[in-house]
Amino acid sequence: MLPRLLEARITHDEGNMSNEEIPAYIARTPCGCLVFATVDNGKRSKAVAKEISKAIRDGLTIERVTVGFVRAAKWGCDHKKKK
Ligand SMILES: [Zn+2]
Repeated sequence: MLPRLLEARITHDEGNMSNEEIPAYIARTPCGCLVFATVDNGKRSKAVAKEISKAIRDGLTIERVTVGFVRAAKWGCDHKKKK
């Protein structure tokens, strides 16, 4: 039951971006680098879906994480630049 309780609380707290437990989506490049993230709060669900489908079209891999994960993650991809 805990996940459902957690979800209800997150919905209630939406807009509070400091909440590390807010769900988010990230996109990784084929080389595994993190290049995109979007917060998945209820009110933005349409925009989020649009952003994610664009990322998939760009060949990125989507993962569902939390805002805390996004904050702690290492960002960017150096592989494309290096030749
Ligand atoms: Zn890379």
